[in-house]
Amino acid sequence: MTTTEVKQRLLTPGPTAVPQEVLNELAQPIIHHRTKQFQAIFGDLSAKLQKIFKTEGPVLSIAGSGTTAFEAAQICLAKPGSKVITCAGGKFGERWQDVYDVYAKFLNLEQIKINFDWGKAAPVDQIKKALDENPDVSVVTICHSDTSTATASDVQAIAALTQKTDALLIVDGITSVGAFECEMDAWGIDCLVTGSQKAMMLPPGLGYVGLGKRALARLDAIEHDLPAYNLDLRKWVKSHAKNDVPFTPPVALIRGQNVACDLILKDGLEAKIAETKKLAAASRAAFVAMGLTLASESPSDSVTGVYYPEGVVDGKFRGAVRDNHGVHIAGGQDGRGAKWKGKIFRISHMGYVDFEDTSVAFGAMEAELIAQGVAIEPGTAVKAFEAAYNNA
Ligand SMILES: *Cc1c(COP(=O)(O)O)cnc(C)c1O
Repeated sequence: MTTTEVKQRLLTPGPTAVPQEVLNELAQPIIHHRTKQFQAIFGDLSAKLQKIFKTEGPVLSIAGSGTTAFEAAQICLAKPGSKVITCAGGKFGERWQDVYDVYAKFLNLEQIKINFDWGKAAPVDQIKKALDENPDVSVVTICHSDTSTATASDVQAIAALTQKTDALLIVDGITSVGAFECEMDAWGIDCLVTGSQKAMMLPPGLGYVGLGKRALARLDAIEHDLPAYNLDLRKWVKSHAKNDVPFTPPVALIRGQNVACDLILKDGLEAKIAETKKLAAASRAAFVAMGLTLASESPSDSVTGVYYPEGVVDGKFRGAVRDNHGVHIAGGQDGRGAKWKGKIFRISHMGYVDFEDTSVAFGAMEAELIAQGVAIEPGTAVKAFEAAYNNA
């Protein structure tokens, strides 16, 4: 094989690889969306999404990216004249603060920003204190898994707090839904959001919003002017009840998601989650065996981040891993809380990625770290990965 023929393996934490069955479905002829045929597909999909979200409430499918869906939830669920608590320990948590910075003046919101160190889980005590001190909080936002830092937070504990108050919890589950345990109804998550291009095994283009009872009631009670048209969730909820959407949907993606959900649910969601967990645990073991340091103290099972050893150049390393081995991994990101560009690299475990892909990735990463002068006994990474996987 020449270099150009090397099999390409996408192990970036979004977009992720898409299974062939889903690609085939995406290639089906386009049908019109105001038809019984589309409504049947859409109804089918919505039921499967409820299983993956673990909710009895509606899960809306909105054209756009994960950010579109989250922004819609933020705008529609905040009460005008109230406070919102926004938790950020990474790039995505910071994004939700930026969104409320934009809408604060339209909704007369005061934002309480709880910032915590990148690589650490959200401080539950601090959130509790902020809720205790501010009875007029209408929304709390949290990332279940902040992909930029490969870090998971204890959403179950945070939901237990918000459930005792009038504050609704909006969870960014963009790299937790379908990847690791996230019990929307059982934990008391009021609004859960994900996107199509992470654990859902689809190309980018759809955002999903799951709404619990309290969130639906909040939407029903809206009497103020919303600074939104397309993102007015009341329109989406109304159509959803008729297996419909208010505006032209990405029909191909809806069909594709239906098939991807079948693949996720084939052996049960729990089996998919268990497999992701195994890949993540074995990956952490392999990085440690190579002498590297994990970027997170509370690692997410959907993505692993590690610090570069001294002297390794990010662009050169990831370029060589891609060009010489066909393995695509991600670098770090910069935000307000930290600058991790060039400092860490990340590999995904969610969706359509398997043991073989990950094993190949470890062989590639090890070879290119050695090529940049890192002292690693050749074979260490793959051996450690496979041993930990088989023992998990
Ligand atoms: C990818 C990602 C987003 C952003 O999603 P887009 O689809 O790029 O808008 C938000 N939050 C998390 C945790 C993500 O991983």
